[in-house]
Amino acid sequence: MNKKIVIIGGGASALMLASLLPKNSVTIIESNAKLGAKILVSGGGKCNITNTLMGAEYFLGDEAFINPSLKRFSQQSLLQWLERQRLEPVLRKERQYFCKNSSKELLDIFIKQSKKQKIFFNEKVLDVSKRDDLFYVKTNKQTVTADAVVVASGGLSFPKLGASSIGYDIAEKFGHRVVKTAPGLVGFTVQKDQFFFKELSGLSTDVEIKVGDNLCKGALLFAHKGMSGPAVLDASLYWEKGKIEIDFLPQFSWEKIYKSKKQLSSLLPMPKRLTKAFLLQLNIDDKTGIKITTDEIKLLKTLNSYSFAPAGTFGYAKAEVTKGGVCTDEVDAKSMMSKKVEGLYFTGEVLDVTGRLGGYNFQWAFSSAYSCAKFINKEEK
Ligand SMILES: Cc1cc2nc3c(=O)[nH]c(=O)nc-3n(C[C@H](O)[C@H](O)[C@H](O)COP(=O)(O)OP(=O)(O)OC[C@H]3O[C@@H](n4cnc5c(N)ncnc54)[C@H](O)[C@@H]3O)c2cc1C
Repeated sequence: MNKKIVIIGGGASALMLASLLPKNSVTIIESNAKLGAKILVSGGGKCNITNTLMGAEYFLGDEAFINPSLKRFSQQSLLQWLERQRLEPVLRKERQYFCKNSSKELLDIFIKQSKKQKIFFNEKVLDVSKRDDLFYVKTNKQTVTADAVVVASGGLSFPKLGASSIGYDIAEKFGHRVVKTAPGLVGFTVQKDQFFFKELSGLSTDVEIKVGDNLCKGALLFAHKGMSGPAVLDASLYWEKGKIEIDFLPQFSWEKIYKSKKQLSSLLPMPKRLTKAFLLQLNIDDKTGIKITTDEIKLLKTLNSYSFAPAGTFGYAKAEVTKGGVCTDEVDAKSMMSKKVEGLYFTGEVLDVTGRLGGYNFQWAFSSAYSCAKFINKEEK
């Protein structure tokens, strides 16, 4: 007899799982009116699906838990799977795979695949309980019974796209530990000394950001609320509180300026408006290189290690992911099944696994779903 499986959530992980399980074996319960809301908005509308470089080193979380799934369903396996569905992602930014034109290309594949399963839309899961060997999944409309429940309800980020705490609530109810959550891949708000950043909103410059031992390279984008951009989003994964250090002039060779007759705002490789703002802060005139004093050079070089403490982050409303989540010590790395409750599974972002920017979070959503599907399919045989 086929087991009746309920998947909570109709996002990336749930959709991959439902596509890998036999026809009519699954009921997806999704609180939105549509599937895969995050897929659609991801990667600037083109969905950064995966990355040429893969491994636990690109994630926060337990290496021993993460790597088996990434190996079982690697980025190559994902690309091959997509190819079989006639989707050929394109390589951008050297190592990131995106949909060619729109995220819809990926979502359409999943929507087509999901037609073989039952889906309840606009139903919010409120609670799960277990009596004897049966799960009771209570929604705002009904109670659905199941032999197995897969919690694929994601994290807390982007509540306007359907995020809720249900995955953590269920985990805790069944005796699981939930590692403290926080917004991740998110911009930083600034304190008074950096309020001038807000006036630079819209400007972008390449930087290197140090957070503890971690180095995040890429663009920094000045924003109305503070700062954002790929390097900042990555840095937010490692930041809890305290100072970060930004090199605004990475690889810049200072020798260039000593004999130059150009003004500093033209010499320094940053947008002119940004250089002028820093010169104002440092109390240095926008003079030519040859007129610069040794003391002024010293001051300018502080831009190689500009250190300050962000006020906080832009919060869950703007965070691409949620750090923390269901503790992976209590989940089996092979099957994604709870080590405490037979038949209860967790996949995707709800787990304490968070990828860096670059397609890592979708790869995790898909790889963890694959592990779960492989185990369930084997059990059914
Ligand atoms: C703006 C943005 C851009 C992103 N871009 C990228 C990118 O380019 N590359 C990348 O790798 N990652 C990206 N991410 C992260 C990625 O989208 C997530 O990590 C991934 O979607 C997680 O998959 P999931 O299935 O675990 O959770 P989700 O995709 O979040 O799916 C969870 C689903 O559960 C539903 N749900 C929640 N609570 C309930 C409930 N109580 N009852 C019923 N249903 C419920 C939600 O509505 C949602 O549909 C981005 C995220 C955001 C917000």
